[in-house]
Amino acid sequence: MEFRPTIGLETHVQLATQTKLFCGCANRFGAPPNTLICPVCSGQPGVLPVLNERALRLGVRAALALGATVANYTKFDRKHYFYPDLPKGYQISQYDLPFSSGGGIRLENNKFVRLRRIHLEEDAGKAIHDRGDGTLVDLNRAGVPLIEIVTEPDVASADEAYEYLTALKETLQFAGVSECDMEKGSLRCDVNVSVHPKEKEGFGTRCEVKNINSFAMVKKAIAFEIERQSKWIESGGRIVQETRTWRDDEGRTETLRTKEEAQDYRYFPEPDLPPLRITNLYIDETRAEIPESPSARRERFVKSGLNREEIQTLTIDRAAGDYYDQVAAACGDPKAAAVWVCGEVNRVRNEKNIRFVDFPLTPAQTASVIVLVKSGRASVSAGKQIFDALVRDTTKTAGQLLQELGLEQISDPAIIENAVREVLAANAKIVAEYKGGKEKALGSLMGQIMKKTGGRANPAELQLALKRLLER
Ligand code: ADP
Ligand code: MG
Ligand code: ZN
Repeated sequence: MEFRPTIGLETHVQLATQTKLFCGCANRFGAPPNTLICPVCSGQPGVLPVLNERALRLGVRAALALGATVANYTKFDRKHYFYPDLPKGYQISQYDLPFSSGGGIRLENNKFVRLRRIHLEEDAGKAIHDRGDGTLVDLNRAGVPLIEIVTEPDVASADEAYEYLTALKETLQFAGVSECDMEKGSLRCDVNVSVHPKEKEGFGTRCEVKNINSFAMVKKAIAFEIERQSKWIESGGRIVQETRTWRDDEGRTETLRTKEEAQDYRYFPEPDLPPLRITNLYIDETRAEIPESPSARRERFVKSGLNREEIQTLTIDRAAGDYYDQVAAACGDPKAAAVWVCGEVNRVRNEKNIRFVDFPLTPAQTASVIVLVKSGRASVSAGKQIFDALVRDTTKTAGQLLQELGLEQISDPAIIENAVREVLAANAKIVAEYKGGKEKALGSLMGQIMKKTGGRANPAELQLALKRLLER
């Protein structure tokens, strides 16, 4: 039997706000347990939530960056379940009126993965089972703002899921919505997988897989599920709808809970928060603050004459392109800026194993080296030496280093002509060879003159002077 896989993804993304969704506690990763909590996010009786407007703003940004439609009317609901990391006994989420619907992501094979909805909700705390005797609870994460992004079941393979997630992450990072760092838990993804006989209409029964901690694991978990379900059906089995967990150590999924035990969340409208009206003005304002999308940026780089490799380097993250844009603006030459940023800056960045945001030179400093080279005061190789020296001591200027290192390029025709004359006089034999038709002799003469000027002669000027004096 041949099977057609169907996949839908539910992705939780933490919003990069200063504070939590309904209280003033800091939204920060890595603090000592239970140091970022208050009566609201630790679920004390008698407290009231107040919506963090910044979270709504970032959520709307995400929706717009993904081409979704933002609702003009939306509300919050309580989703009830009991677990130690959820002190209130319910999570404030959105049920029937999410703030965003539609939108999607285009894959390279031109398939459009449609989004069903995006809603706002609060994160739960963290239950820690592997330290001490019982379960420990850290509520620092409780109340951190999340958006949940749910796709239609449009994804057909593990590779497509991987591509969707990569593009989703890129879009959200560029829009400044979230760090999307799976290691810090600021992006988490559950996958729904089903298989169905290839020639038959409709869909199979799905299983949802949770506890996936990297994009690589997403791929592995989907591949495993497709295989498991196909084999089971082939051997006469029936798939029951269930929630499974990914066991990365064993490279397989296993049953967490079946639908029979599935929770009834008893959703009802959150009485402590008024419904929201999101005006078109608010939506337009938000749209205006979204930075250029990765694809728009790529398009612009192509138009500036950058090549594929350059564009790849300059779009590895938003900071890379931002750095480049500032260098290009400061030196006035987009192509030269690309050559230097992808060449020297990227080389040093790789050697130091740092990101563009942490690069020791400001874009203006890098541009100042490019300007020295473009103006002819320094050769390209001298420019590279100055660049390295500047990285070592960022308090100097490129001009200072040019002088200190004695690298100033000689463009003065009188000085160059003198050097040419001296070398020609001392090499009558080579000159004769050249005049006798041996073109190659020119290179040897050039090399000697370069040596005489300490490698600092302007190559173009030198060549001109040499040819002129040889013609005589
Ligand atoms: P629930 O409300 O129980 O979470 P949904 O119908 O909202 O279920 O679907 C959740 C996710 O499962 C969505 O991403 C959706 O695209 C996906 N999904 C729905 N049906 C299937 C199916 N037959 N196979 C794979 N994924 C599916
Ligand atoms: Mg769901
Ligand atoms: Zn709090």
